[in-house]
Amino acid sequence: PLDKDELGSRTWGFLHTMAAYYPENPSPQQKQDMKSFFDIFSRFYPCEVCAKDFQKEIQTQPPNVDSQKSLSKWLCDMHNIVNVKLGKKSFDCNRVNERWKDGWID
Ligand code: FAD
Repeated sequence: PLDKDELGSRTWGFLHTMAAYYPENPSPQQKQDMKSFFDIFSRFYPCEVCAKDFQKEIQTQPPNVDSQKSLSKWLCDMHNIVNVKLGKKSFDCNRVNERWKDGWID
């Protein structure tokens, strides 16, 4: 089985990659589907404390499904909330596409 950390890092990899390939101009259906995705994801994520906290976060700050950039930025902010909670360093969200889409530029 996957432990909580391994599950977490693999799941973040999937979620950030999904956000990286979300359309820049999503249709109304795609926007609705992405909202539903996160709603359902937050109810079935197989780490109970993680799922409970994530549900609360998305209620106060729902996914910004307007574009690829806005979704990736939102998800980066959500991940940073967890980073801070766990005492980890916060990630620079201006660089989220470099990390998960385009590759590092420097
Ligand atoms: P991870 O945090 O898994 O990050 C993986 C990689 O993503 C990093 O190496 C970095 O390159 C990149 N990254 C880091 N921050 C960002 C960011 N803000 N935006 C974009 N990319 C970034 N664990 C708990 O103990 N308690 C919890 O309540 C909890 N809640 C979670 C909720 C969700 C929805 C998920 C998916 C995971 C949760 N986890 C929780 C797991 C936790 O977030 C980590 O995945 C785990 O601690 C392993 O951390 P890591 O150091 O390997 O890096």
